[in-house]
Amino acid sequence: MTSDANLVFEASPAVTLAIAGSDHRFPVRRVFCIGRNYAAHAREMGHDPDREPPFFFTKWAETVVQASAVPYPPETRNYQYEGELVVALGKPGRAIRVEEARAHIFGYAAGLDMTRRDLQLAAKELGRPWDVGKNVEASAPVGLLHRVADIGRLDAGPIVLRVNGVVKQQSDISQMLWSSEEIIAHLSRYYVLQPGDLIFTGTPEGVGAVQPGDRIELAIDGLEPLRVEITSPLE
Ligand code: MN
Repeated sequence: MTSDANLVFEASPAVTLAIAGSDHRFPVRRVFCIGRNYAAHAREMGHDPDREPPFFFTKWAETVVQASAVPYPPETRNYQYEGELVVALGKPGRAIRVEEARAHIFGYAAGLDMTRRDLQLAAKELGRPWDVGKNVEASAPVGLLHRVADIGRLDAGPIVLRVNGVVKQQSDISQMLWSSEEIIAHLSRYYVLQPGDLIFTGTPEGVGAVQPGDRIELAIDGLEPLRVEITSPLE
């Protein structure tokens, strides 16, 4: 890493992702997460899954980790997995039309939108932001990134999450209420999307809590499965 002599302390290196079949790495810029994008999950969270416009929240880029283990975070007794298809953008744009959106997709990965559910629900109840529930260090484990140029458009196929080998979430990417392209078009009305941006496209039903020592596996058809162990809380 090169360091700028004028900085008052050393800057953190950028978060980068390994790419399947390539020595190049993908630099992560921002992380957008879509909520309630599967009808059955919207219902399990107590909402009516009509096709209202997608809503989203964000996580810091530094919450993204491509690692086999992540720590159980502090200040929660209900740390939950949400298995999701992650879309990585490779091209800038705003006011992108749905028909143009595919050209902005660099690739796909399996990802977890780990959530301090107790804190998220408490914030929701008070009408406060979700940050302490969602924007959590190491809360966005991501698997190997696959280029769309190699695997094609991913708009259908099984998504299955297991904890310690037991199936907890099982759905199909085709069940997403809003497709990856529709989400890109929607987000680009509000933001100038940039290469390096990641979009977590929402989770199917079956979310639940994990404990230190649990092993999560997220398999999405056509992608390298993501395997993560939850380790002991940080001291
Ligand atoms: Mn989510």
